[in-house]
Amino acid sequence: MQEISKLLRENGLKVTPQRLAIYNMLMNTDKHPSAETIYKELVVDNPSISLATVYKTLDSFKSSGLVSELNVGDNCARYDAVTKSHSHIVCTCCGRVEDIKFDIFNNISEKAAEKTDYKILYEQLIFYGLCPECIKKQND
Ligand SMILES: [Zn+2]
Ligand SMILES: [Zn+2]
Repeated sequence: MQEISKLLRENGLKVTPQRLAIYNMLMNTDKHPSAETIYKELVVDNPSISLATVYKTLDSFKSSGLVSELNVGDNCARYDAVTKSHSHIVCTCCGRVEDIKFDIFNNISEKAAEKTDYKILYEQLIFYGLCPECIKKQND
């Protein structure tokens, strides 16, 4: 939590127990939770937290560049403490969102910039499909 307090202060954010809890949760998950998921998990140990606080906190984290927001198309933003650009894969059946951790997409922004003469600000690469568990369930 020391580290997180420092990080929040460095980014001009006041340190509050709610902010610490939310960032800590995001840092320790690779599940890309939505605001509702974050709220439901945190309210168990932090009864004073509200969904509105979670939304507000995520907004300030986003503006400070501490988290990235991912819109996977189900009208529900997902949040990621990994802000370095990376690709995602989404299961259209259960809604899970995972990182794609191989490097065929390395330097994809540079390549796009080269071909288009744009200055690329960010990229978002999302693949949609069925996860292995959902495929298994369908075959059962
Ligand atoms: Zn699935
Ligand atoms: Zn991610």
